[in-house]
Amino acid sequence: MFPGAFTYSRPATVSDAVALLVDNPDAKILAGGHSLVPAMKLRLAMPSALVDLRDITELQGVEASDDSVTIRAMATYNDVRDHEGAAAALPILVEAINVVGDAQVRDHGTLVGSLVHNDPAADLTAVALALGGDVHATGPNGDRSISLDDFFVDLWTTTLEPDEVVTHVTLNRPSQHSRMAYRKFAHPASGYAIVGVAAVLGMDGDTVSQARVALTGAASTATRLSSVETAITGQALTEESVEAAIRDVTAGLTINGDQFAPEAYRAHLVEVLTKRALLGTQA
Ligand SMILES: Cc1cc2nc3c(=O)[nH]c(=O)nc-3n(C[C@H](O)[C@H](O)[C@H](O)COP(=O)(O)OP(=O)(O)OC[C@H]3O[C@@H](n4cnc5c(N)ncnc54)[C@H](O)[C@@H]3O)c2cc1C
Repeated sequence: MFPGAFTYSRPATVSDAVALLVDNPDAKILAGGHSLVPAMKLRLAMPSALVDLRDITELQGVEASDDSVTIRAMATYNDVRDHEGAAAALPILVEAINVVGDAQVRDHGTLVGSLVHNDPAADLTAVALALGGDVHATGPNGDRSISLDDFFVDLWTTTLEPDEVVTHVTLNRPSQHSRMAYRKFAHPASGYAIVGVAAVLGMDGDTVSQARVALTGAASTATRLSSVETAITGQALTEESVEAAIRDVTAGLTINGDQFAPEAYRAHLVEVLTKRALLGTQA
C-alpha cells in the first residue's frame, strides 16, 4: 500500500514548524509515525505535506519535578519508561507503556503523538486523564495550555487546532500518599486496549481522599468515570466498597461494539477492569 504524494520538511524550530502548518492547511505533523504512516498507507489520511519534528532539539526529553512530570513532544514511550525520575514519580506510566503494542512501537512512538491522535483504543490517553495535567501547544497566536480534562473530544479528535504544535505535556505528580494502577484487556493481534482503566487515588490512611479514574477502549474517546470517582471517595478501599462504586459504571456511556468485542461484552469488561484497577492500586 502506498500513500498519496506529499512534500516533506524537517524544520529546526517550533516556530518554523508552525509557519509550515500555517502555509499549508493540509499539512500534518510527523512524530514517530506509528499512527500517521499506517493511516496514510491506507489512504485514511492524505496530507499533502509532512512536517517532521525530529530535528527540533527543544522537543526532546523528559523531566520530573516535585509536582509534575514533563514529557516533550518527541520523547518516545521508551524515553519516558526509562527516565528514572518519571518512573519513580508516576509508576503507572511504566505499567501502561509496557503493554503498548510491541518493542518497535515503544521505541519510535511518542506519548504526545498518542494523545494528539486520540485513538479510542489508546492506552496513554486514559492514563494521562487519570493523572491530570496540561497539554502545551504553540500556534500562530502564541503558546497556550489545555487541561487534559478538556483535550479529548471524540474519536481521533482533540481541541488542538490544525496549525498548532504540541510542545510538551505536563502530568500531575500526586502526593506521596497516592496509589495508581492501569489494567487492560488487550486485543490479541494489535495490543490496543479493547478496554483499559487507569486509577489514581489519593489516600488519607486507608481512606480514599481523591480519585481520578479514566476509561479507554470502550467508548469513542477516553473519558473519566466520574460516578466511580465520587462513589469511592471517602471510602476505605475494600472489595465491598469497590463493588458498590462500580455498580453504575457504564451508566451514561455509549459503549462500542465490534467483531472483536460486542457492546455487552465490553460493558462487562468495563466493570471487571475498573474493579481490578481500583484494587490494583493496593499492590
Ligand atoms: C502495530 C502497532 C501496535 C500498536 N499498539 C498500540 C497499543 O497497544 N496501545 C496504544 O496506545 N497504541 C498502540 N499503537 C499506536 C501507537 O502508540 C501510536 O502510533 C503512537 O504512540 C503515536 O505516536 P507517534 O509518535 O507514532 O505519532 P504519529 O503517528 O507521528 O502522529 C500521530 C498523530 O498525531 C499528530 N502529532 C504527533 N505529534 C504531534 C505534535 N507534537 N503536535 C501536533 N500534532 C502531533 C500527527 O500529526 C498525527 O496526526 C500501535 C501502533 C502500531 C503500529
